[in-house]
Amino acid sequence: MSIAANLTELKNEVERLNVKLIAVSKTKSEEEIMEAYHAGQRVFGENHVQELADKHEHLPADIEWHMIGHLQTNKVKYIAPFVSLIHSVDSLKLLKEIDKQAEKNNRVIDCLLQIYIADEETKFGLGFDEAIELLRSPEFGTLSHVRVVGVMGIATNTDNEKQIKDEFYELSTFFNGLKISFFQDKDYFKEISMGMSSDYKEAIQHGSTMIRVGSTIFGKRVIPHWKNKTE
Ligand SMILES: *Cc1c(COP(=O)(O)O)cnc(C)c1O
Repeated sequence: MSIAANLTELKNEVERLNVKLIAVSKTKSEEEIMEAYHAGQRVFGENHVQELADKHEHLPADIEWHMIGHLQTNKVKYIAPFVSLIHSVDSLKLLKEIDKQAEKNNRVIDCLLQIYIADEETKFGLGFDEAIELLRSPEFGTLSHVRVVGVMGIATNTDNEKQIKDEFYELSTFFNGLKISFFQDKDYFKEISMGMSSDYKEAIQHGSTMIRVGSTIFGKRVIPHWKNKTE
């Protein structure tokens, strides 16, 4: 099927469930992205700073760009002027840098705390305790140019459906706990970014509000470089 047909089918499936679709366009060409754009998609996710900045520069201005991959502190400045949502905040240090760069650009940047749920050593993220520690820290309270709007997680890359479901359940349970403890009167804390091509159905069953889907829309990537590189 074409990119447009894949996209339309997926959008019809998930948008009536009120789930936001992030089209993950990493490694894909501007032409391929434009095919999705012409089929109505406006939200795209990338995991490399350079690639994200280049695509932002060349593609239509009404695209909402999400950073979904590991982000190094020294690269925040390249995306701070335009990024819509950073899914991958995994330290207070990074959040502080995003705050600083957002202030320089006179804006508030929405972020998700990336929570470590997978049974794999290679995945980035905060442990449950670390996330709580971050939110409790006095410094977090002083950041006025970032807004933590929810959590993100990546399930283990496995065929074991029960394990994947357990991990998604853990993340949504943790989200509910954070909501009560830290964000009770904050309507903006409402996002759970979980689910990719292989597991988005399970993620939605467990309360996902945004899914990040690449290969189901664009076809297989030649090099799944998000697995091999650190940023
Ligand atoms: C690449 C990537 C995805 C999309 O993966 P697909 O299997 O192609 O849907 C989702 N989330 C993150 C963080 C990714 O790096």
